[in-house]
Amino acid sequence: MDLPPPKALGSAGARPAAVVQPAETLEQALYEVRKKIYPRAVHGWFAAWRWALVWATQLVFYGGAWLQWNDRQAVLFDIVHRKFYILGLVFWPQDIIYLTVLLIVSALGLFLFTAVAGRLWCGYACPQTVYTEIFMWVEERIEGSRAARMKLDQSPLTVRKLGLKSAKHAVWLAIALWTGFTFVGYFTPIRELWTEATTLFRWSGGGPNPALGPWETFWVLFYGFATYGNAGWMREQVCKYMCPYARFQSAMFDRDTLVITYDGGRGEPRGARSRAADRAALGLGDCVDCGICVQVCPTGIDIRNGLQYECIGCAACVDGCDQVMDKMGYPRGLIRYSTENAVAQHLTRSQTLARVFRPRALVYAGILAGIVIAAGVSLWLRVPLKVDVIRDRAAISREVEGGLIENVFRLQIMNTAETGRRFEVRAEGLPGIRVVSEPSVEVDAAASRMVPVRVRVPPGEARPGTHPIEFVVSAIGDEGVAVREKSVFIVR
Ligand code: SF4
Ligand code: SF4
Repeated sequence: MDLPPPKALGSAGARPAAVVQPAETLEQALYEVRKKIYPRAVHGWFAAWRWALVWATQLVFYGGAWLQWNDRQAVLFDIVHRKFYILGLVFWPQDIIYLTVLLIVSALGLFLFTAVAGRLWCGYACPQTVYTEIFMWVEERIEGSRAARMKLDQSPLTVRKLGLKSAKHAVWLAIALWTGFTFVGYFTPIRELWTEATTLFRWSGGGPNPALGPWETFWVLFYGFATYGNAGWMREQVCKYMCPYARFQSAMFDRDTLVITYDGGRGEPRGARSRAADRAALGLGDCVDCGICVQVCPTGIDIRNGLQYECIGCAACVDGCDQVMDKMGYPRGLIRYSTENAVAQHLTRSQTLARVFRPRALVYAGILAGIVIAAGVSLWLRVPLKVDVIRDRAAISREVEGGLIENVFRLQIMNTAETGRRFEVRAEGLPGIRVVSEPSVEVDAAASRMVPVRVRVPPGEARPGTHPIEFVVSAIGDEGVAVREKSVFIVR
């Protein structure tokens, strides 16, 4: 096995030859030691877009939990009662199909946007990007610019340094805990959660007990510390080593996918020069080798080395380089959204776009649009009533007074509307079949009721065996709300 030279093993290179460890005891790190990245703040068109999405996603996330609808939380995933409320819709476990559709739409959407424009999700809307952006903004406000932060980290511990670091972590923790609290607020009514969290303790069992339940406390802390750790400490490590999406994105890319690209043909040979210098006379390309594109990169890579899996497509390097190009008086776009084919073949913008919206992307878009439209129509036509029919196994078929044949069923009637309703139950499918039970069943808003239903058929109307029948459950006073559910009637 070839061993690396002693210098490559850190301090080993400085040791006298006599104390170099035997070859079999030398160790190589399996993991790359993290080098802290100090991203430089950047302004520009894409940074503005990124901040617009930070605001939009956080307004929806932090604000959405407090919205009210019909005297209840507008968006609530009530796992305990197995009901999901989204604005005017109430989803029950029987609506699992919509969750399946949502997952399919998300996956197809990801395929489509990745095939068209690379890691748009990662660069603009992924929670890791959004919270890292917020945490970096806090860091910059408290500790200063990139250079100031680097200087501060290298300086010895002083009261000022301790104060700045404490303030930063206090603000990070506050944001993280509020994020954890909001997240839990989508699963437990957030107003009750707030009351419990601010009450702190309740007197019960002869002593003070925390007002917030143990599970709520656990999840607030868990999600809060995950946010703090991921956005404050781990940052690009999450994208580079933990997120599986970075690994399989290459399967969705091709040479016509829009990605952040450095135009090497235009930029090379790179080299420093004054603004007044004639780059043609110097034999240089447009890249002034200022390193700004590397300094602004949140994952610390050099996009001039080509597309790398660490690139999250945030376009910070595009904004950074455009500012340099402006200062130098060169055209913008040395680093830009482009495709490998466009750069290699010098395609015009319209030629590039024609290839970006290629058949594969159009097929994805067509399927996605079809599923979204079908799901929307299905939701629009959805009847706010569900019925499950369960046979009573204790009384499969029996003869009752007058020689009538009777089967007993249990009907679970789920009123998914947010108003209480009264339902009528009928049976169809055999001559003279009728339901002998309560004439109507009252079910509260967004509630379900299990009702026993006896069904009778006159003697001689059905031969021994099984006969398909249908239950018809309809809302009294609202003809549109009715459900037919199949079952079988048994005659022995
Ligand atoms: S290379 Fe550019 S687009 Fe990619 S992560 Fe770095 S700054 Fe963002
Ligand atoms: S910012 Fe632009 S000019 Fe500066 S090093 Fe990067 S590519 Fe070259």
